Amino acid sequence: MGQFAVIGLGSFGATVATELIGLKHDVIGIDSNKKYVENIADQLTHAVIADATDEHVLNELNIQNCDAAVVAIGEDIEASILCVLHLKNLGLKKIWVKAKSKAHHMILTHLGVTKIIHPEEDMGVRVAHSLSYPMVSRYMVLEDDHYIVKVQISESQNGLRFNQLMDQTDVRTLLHKRGKELLFSIDPNLILQTGDIIVVEGLIEPLRRLSKHFK
Ligand code: ATP
Repeated sequence: MGQFAVIGLGSFGATVATELIGLKHDVIGIDSNKKYVENIADQLTHAVIADATDEHVLNELNIQNCDAAVVAIGEDIEASILCVLHLKNLGLKKIWVKAKSKAHHMILTHLGVTKIIHPEEDMGVRVAHSLSYPMVSRYMVLEDDHYIVKVQISESQNGLRFNQLMDQTDVRTLLHKRGKELLFSIDPNLILQTGDIIVVEGLIEPLRRLSKHFK
């Protein structure tokens, strides 16, 4: 079980905080707005109304003893940066920060935070990918154009042999799932069924070739 601080309890911060609680971690949530703190107080280990730009407050709350802090202050970039500076001064090693703009991102890069998050942009990219490739239910970017993708088999691929689907795509299949059964080594003659799931890995061009079977 880890200990985390979430600073800024708007919709992003509150989601991070409650998800961490769901994963059985201790979470201290901090927000300068009483209403946001009250909304979530009963779900977190501690919830505090405080100004996170005040280093003494952060010190008193022992934030430095947390495994990591997520700074989810959005609009007030100055407050976000000050808070990060204080967390660094207090010796916190893992600091994840939500960035609102390019300038904010650049400053955070110079401050040397652990991770900079752009939730709106990331979600926008995911929505665009989902609209463009509806058979992709999840994906993960390994590098710039290298992905792991979870693909759902639908009516139009039902009855296809596995190697008919994958032939000449240069995409590697990591697993096949039917119901609760997982296969890591797949028979090329396997007949695909609606509802099957395959998880594949490959570069964007080979993945595009595979996607043509889903049109
Ligand atoms: P979201 O999209 O997550 O709802 P947002 O990006 O619109 O949020 P804001 O609403 O500006 O960002 O800030 C998120 C939270 O951070 C707010 O609940 C706000 O009260 C809180 N906050 C802002 N400044 C401070 C501060 N100095 N100390 C603590 N909390 C702060």
